[in-house]
Amino acid sequence: MDFLVLINKDNKVKDDVKSFDIIKTSCSTYNKEEILVNKVIEDDLINMFNAAKSKGLNLYVSSGYRSIEEQTEIYDNGKNPLAAIPGCSEHQVGLAIDIIHSEISKDDLEKNPYIFEDTKEFEWLIKNCYKYGFILRYPKGKENKTLIPYEPWHYRYVGINNAIKIQKSKKVLEEYVN
Ligand SMILES: [Zn+2]
Repeated sequence: MDFLVLINKDNKVKDDVKSFDIIKTSCSTYNKEEILVNKVIEDDLINMFNAAKSKGLNLYVSSGYRSIEEQTEIYDNGKNPLAAIPGCSEHQVGLAIDIIHSEISKDDLEKNPYIFEDTKEFEWLIKNCYKYGFILRYPKGKENKTLIPYEPWHYRYVGINNAIKIQKSKKVLEEYVN
């Protein structure tokens, strides 16, 4: 699995990255839903969640791997205006996860998808996620590079070495891989 695989509006998921192992994450999940992730991210994801927990912070995975059918369903039902076009979502390779706090209700989230930004969990994540191989994939102010609105909840696994370099460079994946 190429941890730097670029998936966006101009780069659809290619056939050669469609074979990977998907497992049920053992991290805490929002509403105790069963969430699948790419097997290669699970150990670092657990380490990140445990590190947060040791600081009294509780992270919950709210979305992980999605099949093309699930992505199409989310896109078509129109409830989430930020949903990526089917074929263009990093969730389809299981390297992306959405993170939320358990005390945020689905209603509150629908009213304000940016509510997670005001939590201590978010503050900790953006400072520390790179240590576990994750990057905030769609940062504020980089919309012209990612072509995706700012998403405080969406984290992408790129491997620890890449994440350290990306964090230092303040680049987004589009800039880093080109
Ligand atoms: Zn996401």
